Amino acid sequence: MIGVYGGTFNPVHYGHLRTALEVKELFDLQQLRLIPCRLPPHRQQPDVDGEMRLGMLELAIAETPGVQTDRRELDRQGASYMVDTLQSLRAENPDAGLILFIGVDAFAGLESWHRWRHLFDYAHVVVMTRPACEMPELSEFLRQRLTEDRGRLHQRTAGCLFFQAVTALDISATAIRELIKAGRNPQFLLPDAVIAYIRRHHLYLSSN
Ligand code: ATP
Repeated sequence: MIGVYGGTFNPVHYGHLRTALEVKELFDLQQLRLIPCRLPPHRQQPDVDGEMRLGMLELAIAETPGVQTDRRELDRQGASYMVDTLQSLRAENPDAGLILFIGVDAFAGLESWHRWRHLFDYAHVVVMTRPACEMPELSEFLRQRLTEDRGRLHQRTAGCLFFQAVTALDISATAIRELIKAGRNPQFLLPDAVIAYIRRHHLYLSSN
């Protein structure tokens, strides 16, 4: 089973990292790929380029076996559509189970993603929720794919929707960028090696 965790990672922080490790263990993943986007379709272009966001990710997971970075969205032209990413992973791994992990905030906009229904042709979708969080309302398409049995994800290679509670750390990259811009210390919200990288490259000092 291969996991996919996409994001801007501008910068990567413990909210991403803790949930990545938890789902890797919970779903018994051989590998979890953290995939920084080149151009996020739904938001402003990040001011820190993809190579730097990837560099920070690599520092963050250097000592976490089974968790790796994947640069395919940086190498692709145009907007980073998750459906294209999953399609290319599927082509490389025709028989593997694939799971796309997304936070509950990102899931709220899922139905506006490019060719979103096709995500389920290539992968399962697991929504990472806060413990005891209320289940969002689901469209008929999503309801048909919903399963409450994690074991089902191991019986098929794609097509299921599952909700998984993970440790909720109230950390966001936006808040980290704002702290740094205000001259405050972001330590303990993200790895020290990433903070050192940010300082070395003078990132997030002037704009968001
Ligand atoms: P920003 O503040 O710039 O919007 P972010 O911190 O939300 O960034 P992204 O890179 O946009 O991070 O998020 C990538 C994925 O990580 C999304 O699926 C998002 O839901 C999830 N995520 C972000 N922060 C957390 C967190 N604290 N706990 C769990 N998941 C998170």
